Amino acid sequence: MNEYIEREARYCANNYAPLPVVLVRGEGVHVWDDAGRRYIDLLGGYSAVSHGHRHPRLCAALKRQVDRLDVVSRAFHTDRLGDFVARACELTGQEAGLPMNTGAEAVETALKAARKWAYKVKGVPNDAAEIITCEGNFHGRTIAITGFSTVDQYRDGFGPYAPGFVQVPFGDADALERTITPDTAAFLVEPIQGEGGVIVPPPGYLARCARICAEHDVLLICDEIQTGLGRTGKLLACEHDDVRPDAVTLGKALGGGLLPVSMFLARREVMDVFNPGDHGSTFGGNPISAAVGLEALNVLVEENLIERSAEMGDYMLAALGAIDSPAVVATRGRGLFIGMEFHPDIIAASEVCERLLSHGILTKETHRNTVRFAPPLTISKPDIDEATARIRDMVGEIHLDRAHRARRAS
Ligand code: PLP
Repeated sequence: MNEYIEREARYCANNYAPLPVVLVRGEGVHVWDDAGRRYIDLLGGYSAVSHGHRHPRLCAALKRQVDRLDVVSRAFHTDRLGDFVARACELTGQEAGLPMNTGAEAVETALKAARKWAYKVKGVPNDAAEIITCEGNFHGRTIAITGFSTVDQYRDGFGPYAPGFVQVPFGDADALERTITPDTAAFLVEPIQGEGGVIVPPPGYLARCARICAEHDVLLICDEIQTGLGRTGKLLACEHDDVRPDAVTLGKALGGGLLPVSMFLARREVMDVFNPGDHGSTFGGNPISAAVGLEALNVLVEENLIERSAEMGDYMLAALGAIDSPAVVATRGRGLFIGMEFHPDIIAASEVCERLLSHGILTKETHRNTVRFAPPLTISKPDIDEATARIRDMVGEIHLDRAHRARRAS
């Protein structure tokens, strides 16, 4: 066994099942393994690497900041934080931001803000606030968040869970309306469910949810940690429905593929429920994160990565959609956020990813036996052509193998 894989297996917790490849270098949409083999990265660090590996402007911003000022904590002001949060507000149409590090922390921040807003502003009786989430959601891995997951494995063995969360089917605005009570604080939703299988809701769903939430004085919180920052061809995926939510969570690509940087953004009325000491994070909003986060936002806009995601996404979706095979149940997505669902009786999505690895393509499966494609938004048409050809070859092999097995069995 490879010595690096062996060392990880011996010393690391067994909470991931990595593909058997050891990556040592990355540039743009490509990464290389320890034997010098080149791969096309179609996972994009679970959407954290939207700018491409080691984007020169982001690396330069990181190095510049490291040479000036590092972590000082939020006990003091810095000359970096205000510009970063201001730009994030300007781009998302929100009024205030609270910087954190990981996506799950941004979601936890949203949950705390929603509950406190319900008590202090809406007038919900103490400890009665409810937050509605969707079946098939994925918002992170903390105890509170796994408590409202509907995936058995995420919950199994981690109870007891925090009360105050209810689930409705994703894509069903009527179910949302029926479930709202006077104690409902917020509806937390992914505009497109990512880990759930790249599930695109029916057209107009989010717009209807926004109307329903407004009518019932319920906060609409969009978790754009995976779908945001250009991934679906708009800065925020909720823009496809012309929706401006009451609050948004960002993460992943906000760190430019270099650092964990996340943010909870909201209207002032919501954000103002937080007072000094209510919430925080030692590393959240530190000058290095702020410098990289600001540059990540600027690069997205100045290098037209959002428009590029829309254009390249259409191109890639059409190319993948043209792969005709009984093994492929559906190919769907928006922008460069694409899922290819495989027939579970024919092949497991995890095996598809193993086969793709041998074809020089990196990605990972989601739920619903779906393989996700979320490459850096910098991907070019020739890269997409090369990737699609390899994916087509892999799908062709599934048939050959099945035909071979069937012949041997008969
Ligand atoms: N929210 C969504 C929609 C996600 O897709 C993820 C991660 O995949 C998270 C939250 C959690 O982010 P993190 O892994 O940075 O905690």
